[in-house]
Amino acid sequence: MKDENCIFCKLANGEIPTATLYEDEDFRVILDANPASKGHALILPKEHYANLYELDDELASKSLVLAKKMITKLTPILGCDGYNIVQNNGEAAGQTVFHFHMHLIPRSKGDSVGLGWKMSALKDEDKEDILSKI
Ligand code: AMP
Ligand code: ZN
Repeated sequence: MKDENCIFCKLANGEIPTATLYEDEDFRVILDANPASKGHALILPKEHYANLYELDDELASKSLVLAKKMITKLTPILGCDGYNIVQNNGEAAGQTVFHFHMHLIPRSKGDSVGLGWKMSALKDEDKEDILSKI
């Protein structure tokens, strides 16, 4: 299913031209319009799924295999030192476009890409709470 109000549906299906790095029957991989670093790309399924909770299982598997293929090909092309694969689900997690996508963000030693979080110590009460409910 496509969502006619979704910009990523239009980009993924070629209705809006965009810089395409790869395309197959399920996905289009494009350059992000606001890159965190040179080569920042997005894997977009051609069908509309709002997020990972909704994503079809087969496409979920294929998207990680595709991420592996893309970063393996792009690492020597870009001359980067590593990659972050980022995938946001929900506004609270930083998702701004509600069509599932994976960010492929090239990283170089000493770069200024600001990914990360403040680490804390795992609390016993949190551990017990989660383990008792899972
Ligand atoms: P997220 O915050 O995980 O939902 O990421 C959305 C990403 O989509 C951001 O990195 C935007 O820069 C990118 N983006 C939004 N519109 C476009 C567009 N028209 N073409 C390419 N990338 C886009
Ligand atoms: Zn969509």
